[in-house]
Amino acid sequence: MNQSAPPGSLSDAPEATGPRRYGPREHGITPELISQDALNVVRTLRGAGFESYLVGGCVRDLLLGHPPKDFDVSTSAHPGEVHALFRRSRIVGRRFQIVHVRSGREIIEVSTFRGHHSPGFDSDPETGEGADGDEDTVERSSQESAVCATSGMLLRDNVFGSVEEDALRRDFTVNGLYYDPDANVVLDFSTGVEDLGSKLLRVVGDPAQRFQEDPVRMIRAIRFAAKLDFVIDPFAVAAIARCRQLIEGVAAARMFDEILKLLLAGKGEKTFALLEHHRIFELLFPATADAIRRAPLQRNLVTGALRNSDDRIANYKPVTPAFLFAALLWPPMVRRMSLLEARGEPPIAALHDAAADVIGAQVRLITIPRRFATPMREIWELQHRLESRRSPMRLAAHPRFRAAYDFLLLREQAGEDLAGAGEWWTRQQAGEEPAIPRAPDAAPARRRRRRRSRGGAGGDGG
Ligand code: ATP
Ligand code: MG
Repeated sequence: MNQSAPPGSLSDAPEATGPRRYGPREHGITPELISQDALNVVRTLRGAGFESYLVGGCVRDLLLGHPPKDFDVSTSAHPGEVHALFRRSRIVGRRFQIVHVRSGREIIEVSTFRGHHSPGFDSDPETGEGADGDEDTVERSSQESAVCATSGMLLRDNVFGSVEEDALRRDFTVNGLYYDPDANVVLDFSTGVEDLGSKLLRVVGDPAQRFQEDPVRMIRAIRFAAKLDFVIDPFAVAAIARCRQLIEGVAAARMFDEILKLLLAGKGEKTFALLEHHRIFELLFPATADAIRRAPLQRNLVTGALRNSDDRIANYKPVTPAFLFAALLWPPMVRRMSLLEARGEPPIAALHDAAADVIGAQVRLITIPRRFATPMREIWELQHRLESRRSPMRLAAHPRFRAAYDFLLLREQAGEDLAGAGEWWTRQQAGEEPAIPRAPDAAPARRRRRRRSRGGAGGDGG
């Protein structure tokens, strides 16, 4: 346990007496919420003589009465031993190996108890899967405070430990609970159950030290605070203020995974507010933070897109990272574009160059895979075509039309004056606009551009 832990941290937890055990009357877990497949995994491991439990977010959610979104298992069995027990399993991860056991459509993540020096719980920066780390996750940290020195952070691979040690490697007390389905008890090696009751997100151990080990934990703190509606422990808040800049050193590929979990999990708008409050947003999207400081209207676009995604998720509709990234990077993109236009670049060229500049700078911090970057650019490129209202049929057939139209509406909702283009397109789709649109009041500069005649007006007619 950490010697320098602040008052109220884990140093208050009972150490010598082992974990607190909560029986069914105290934990109140609804057995129907537990996945049979996950239970089978735990029982198969136990049957083979290994220790094993359900662990992490699923136990936390079960205690809160929420259906868990997936199930993790923690065991004394080593990855090779786990793999040998399950036919449909594979070992993943480069630094700390874990096993994915497939059961029906579910994948149960089985990790071996981690020892004191095992690497952070980061996902593979190349494959995006598994709980292994990236060597340069913390090494590239550009800034450090006195409390957040970057020394001593290189961690060894596959250092296995006991369940107690595993509990100490977890990020937050509420994420460090273990469920034993045979005894129907929850094991708490710290203050997880208590903290769940008081809706408190408390770091296991000394917050600054844990954030220094793995800066992504600061982002996770924001994620869980928003998702669970918990308050972040004041010691952790103070440590975030001191250590937040270490986030700049996290590998860009890992950041992408984290950003999706952060912003596309149904609580995006609230998460954004917390990110701004803790001054983390400006580290993740510096150009956006700068652009919305200068043009506050643009902030509405970001919050609007997040609210939109939250609503869609609440209604079980799909959301795409491309749309969200298009909104997040639109403010710096338009700023850059007007700068280039002011220097004499024609609008289309300015848009392409601005997009390249903004994306180029952003991907140094957060990878944007091509499968999202391409549609994102298309959403941007379609904006002026939607504003000009030309070739509606051809435009409506564009694979990115729907997203671009939604984006147009979002811009209007954010307060941009697009001379009624959004409403025009809404009517157009309902068949209420003439086939060949009259020259609109909008975008007078663009009306002058060459008109494509291939296929004739009839081909485009509504
Ligand atoms: P969610 O329900 O949103 O998936 P979760 O708590 O299950 O939340 P995961 O990212 O799936 O979050 O991680 C599973 C568990 O692994 C966590 O509950 C936590 O115990 C541990 N963990 C994950 N990432 C870290 C980390 N960076 N540092 C320490 N522990 C971590
Ligand atoms: Mg999980």
